[in-house]
Amino acid sequence: MELINSGISNAMGNSSWIRRMFEAGLELKKQYGADKVYDFSLGNPDLPPPPEVKRALTSIAGHADEPFSIGYMPNAGFTEIRELVARRVSAEQGRAIPGANVIMTCGAAGGLNVFFRAVLEPGDEVIVPTPYFVEYDFYAGNFGGKLVKAPSKELTFELDIEAFERAFSPRTRAVIINSPNNPTGRIYTRAELTALAELIRAMEKKYDRAIYLVSDEPYRFLNFAGSELPPVMGLFPHAVVIGSYSKNLSLAGERLGYIAVDSGIPGVEKLMAALTMCNRILGFVNAPALGQKIIAECIDAEVDPGIYRERRDAMARVLDAAGIEYTMPQGAFYFFPKSPTADENVFIEALLEERVLAVPGRGFGRPGYFRVAFCVDKKVIEGAAPGFKAAAAKFGRK
Ligand code: PLP
Repeated sequence: MELINSGISNAMGNSSWIRRMFEAGLELKKQYGADKVYDFSLGNPDLPPPPEVKRALTSIAGHADEPFSIGYMPNAGFTEIRELVARRVSAEQGRAIPGANVIMTCGAAGGLNVFFRAVLEPGDEVIVPTPYFVEYDFYAGNFGGKLVKAPSKELTFELDIEAFERAFSPRTRAVIINSPNNPTGRIYTRAELTALAELIRAMEKKYDRAIYLVSDEPYRFLNFAGSELPPVMGLFPHAVVIGSYSKNLSLAGERLGYIAVDSGIPGVEKLMAALTMCNRILGFVNAPALGQKIIAECIDAEVDPGIYRERRDAMARVLDAAGIEYTMPQGAFYFFPKSPTADENVFIEALLEERVLAVPGRGFGRPGYFRVAFCVDKKVIEGAAPGFKAAAAKFGRK
């Protein structure tokens, strides 16, 4: 007798590549000891939260014996926190948005689910450039939506506007971008975004429907060269920003993020009311109270991006020494190099033999590449150098 939903059953059978690598890593660590395994499979920030977080928690604890101090709240979150986030997003976007246009969510993941619940009809399509964060498949699929892939250019991962053009249909409801990008580290330029915005405007006209641009931005703070992160509000006709405190405050377990909506959207109040309702009916009810109170005191705090930058440079030296081809990530904490052999699973196996764990590109909708997460200690990165070299040498690299 079947106990569970067939879609979930299938998804479990095709367990994610990241999960598979995680399990292979556990096995290797048991066999050889954790310090002999070089694990680059997970995007779990390893830096401790900045000191402001501990100070905030101590001060919150001082009020924890007051009634309702951690009780239910309005479904969209604490009003003063929404205003604080709105001020920050307004500065980033160069466009004033009020607190009423911000909803606090259970991470960016919760935000994306709430957004898709509010806007997708079953059968609606969401276009994503590949490679991409694979959880998007589930987040859209949870509400009958379907991801449509627009492959970005080889190796540089620049947006391919013609690929986008081919991906549009009368069912397109949204385009989702993530910059700085997981898994490529790319930051989209103003020229790329302007071209995409022009296309979306034309498609809105052609199909006579609102097409959202969703900018998923958990890595906004990790911008190594200080490149321009062009605002999407004002550029796209229906722009929505989804943010997160998982990476910049190393607060991933507290599940705190937000949705911020452009004030220029006609009828935006109705969209905000729908998002607020979806936060409730998806069972989140509201974002965590403690997380929001932390933000009240840490809105401008972040972990030191310089540490990630050093790690990026160390990883680049390791890949260079192994003769592996890549585009230098401008942000986030991932490399997405080209596999030295066409089938990247063969290379992933060769890395495993050296006790190095990375994730095949097909796990991100882009075979022929692999992802290396460098949110690990520099010692792990440097320790993996002989392994990368030996694995690449099997495929004729220097
Ligand atoms: N979007 C991208 C591109 C991510 O890489 C992640 C987490 O790794 C998320 C969303 C989810 O972030 P959160 O922890 O805020 O739900």
